[in-house]
Amino acid sequence: MSRSKSLLPSLLSLAVALSFTAQAGVTDADLVNANKITTGVLSAGLGSQGQRFSPLAKINTNNVAGLVPAWSFSFGGEKQRGQESQPVVYNGKMFVTASYSRIFAIDTKTGNQLWKYEHRLPDGIMPCCDVVNRGAALYGDLVIFGTLDAHLIALDQNTGKVVWDEKLDDYKAGHSYTSAPLVAKGLVMTGISGGEFGVVGRVDARDAKTGKLVWTRPTVEGHMGFMNGKENGISGETNKSWPGDMWKTGGASTWNNFTYDPETNLVFAGTGNPAPWNSHTREGDNLYSCSTVAINVDTGKIVWSYQNTPNDGWDFDGVNEFVNFDMMKDGKVIKAGGKADRNGFFYVNDRTNGKLINAFPFVKKITWAKGVNLESGRPEYVAENRPGTPNEAAEGKKGQMVFAAPSFLGGKNQQPMAYSPDTSLFYVPANEWGMEIWNEPVGYKKGAAYLGAGFTIKTINENYIGALRAVNPVTGKTEWEITNNAPLWGGVLATHGGLVFYGTPEGFLKAVDAKSGKELWKFQTGTGIVAPPVSWEENGQQYIAVVSGWGGAVPLWGGDVAKKVNYLNQGGSVWVFKLFSNQSTADSGAIVPVAAH
Ligand code: CA
Repeated sequence: MSRSKSLLPSLLSLAVALSFTAQAGVTDADLVNANKITTGVLSAGLGSQGQRFSPLAKINTNNVAGLVPAWSFSFGGEKQRGQESQPVVYNGKMFVTASYSRIFAIDTKTGNQLWKYEHRLPDGIMPCCDVVNRGAALYGDLVIFGTLDAHLIALDQNTGKVVWDEKLDDYKAGHSYTSAPLVAKGLVMTGISGGEFGVVGRVDARDAKTGKLVWTRPTVEGHMGFMNGKENGISGETNKSWPGDMWKTGGASTWNNFTYDPETNLVFAGTGNPAPWNSHTREGDNLYSCSTVAINVDTGKIVWSYQNTPNDGWDFDGVNEFVNFDMMKDGKVIKAGGKADRNGFFYVNDRTNGKLINAFPFVKKITWAKGVNLESGRPEYVAENRPGTPNEAAEGKKGQMVFAAPSFLGGKNQQPMAYSPDTSLFYVPANEWGMEIWNEPVGYKKGAAYLGAGFTIKTINENYIGALRAVNPVTGKTEWEITNNAPLWGGVLATHGGLVFYGTPEGFLKAVDAKSGKELWKFQTGTGIVAPPVSWEENGQQYIAVVSGWGGAVPLWGGDVAKKVNYLNQGGSVWVFKLFSNQSTADSGAIVPVAAH
């Protein structure tokens, strides 16, 4: 699409754009090149590598001050709550998911609704951390998204009619689905939420056209994988890193977005906490919890894994996205991946084999470990800062309470970072906070919370929690930072225009200089932003879009922080921006040939 377009005179761009409709919709080749295609936003992460980098530069450091709204669209209804969704854009349509398992198709030129689908949710769904959804996937003429009752649904992009509807798992056992599915090689890959209920995490791959299950790979050591209905080998070795039967309800849920590297044919899934939270019940590393797990898309088998927090005792879910990038080090290009983990360390691994290349803090206060040993790849724990085992003699049988930083809400949580190949920097939406945490006795019961821990989130600094940080993956240095009063919970977009866009819970979408962090533009969207911005071009004009609507885990679980930010109002809308122009093509609703301007 845009690869060929870039070779053609701009007069022909309309004809090229129209030629999509005659084709078979979004292809595997389109998805492989989605990081370069600028005429749409074909996947979560602006490409399966997850860099969230737009090669567009029409909006740049010189003119971003002239950015104005093109349109805004309200999700409406009484169902507001957290809006963590990244829109996808294809062929003049924006597909955007919203709280309570809704999806809308919107005309990108006018902002008019084309269709909407509201999934009928049963009573008794159990999403741990708000009724969010992080976005949809595109394949062929389908748009595919998951629901809070753990269904995966494919709709016709043109009509909004359901083409297939597959049950991922039993919501009554605590399963739900909140992330954006990932499509590669004709397979739609999904994880599962519910690590707080002792579900067993896994990655499922389905035929994207039909929804039929092809393979499933559990992310708790000891569980059997399947391919086409046949056994496909156990993940790891039963009882190697888990005592007794604990692996049977071992958690390691795969609840955030995956990335995929076409060069190595690996899908990278992050895994959540081992269950229950009390680490004393499960001596050992508890593979593959709190890890990056690399799975071969053809075989459905684990090729490598790297565990960020072995024997986690702080709910440091390792689900944060593993962003593929090529790192220059000592004159050599390393096929690398970067991950800003909830535990406060930024990790760089070789994405071909998982070997740890670098690890350094990206937050200022880390209590649970002194550092990460680059030789062994393991953390250097501070033993006294692990919450103690439950004490039979104490009130409520509580174990020794500790103050831990980061808090379980993480140095970074679901909010995705961006990587710019222009600056070779990661832009990390980080948070500085801690928690008081203690362990209590707990037993597994289907559909009941399986934590065995109590906690209160605490602030560390008077004047800020959030900090957008430009992080150098080679040196570990933070090149610049912008602090923010409320915790950052939206994502980041970097562009070839030298810009970094990010949203704040205070409601602002901001553009800053990627090199210096200098603020160049901001706009108040009316409610807090907890979703990542995107960019694309149509009819020669570059657009920026972001979903706005305060919510997510912070107001529900944030303790003292939730009280501090309880003045923030809910909402639910998508905002689209363009450069101000007297000769706008975007408002008329008609397709105007580029030559007329
Ligand atoms: Ca968790």
